[in-house]
Amino acid sequence: MTQSEYLTVRGTQCPYCHSQDVEGSEVDINEGGATQEIGCNTCNAEWIDTYTLTGYMEV
Ligand SMILES: [Zn+2]
Repeated sequence: MTQSEYLTVRGTQCPYCHSQDVEGSEVDINEGGATQEIGCNTCNAEWIDTYTLTGYMEV
């Protein structure tokens, strides 16, 4: 799966085997973004999702 395909499915599928049985660990917040380790329960692949800060909301 390409990066843009991964974004199209909104990170809900394994980029290697396309399984939806994926599990994320805790989110690591850093300056301007965040990362999260993800694992696939079907093929046992591991990867890191990357997030970018897009703004802030008033509460
Ligand atoms: Zn997989």
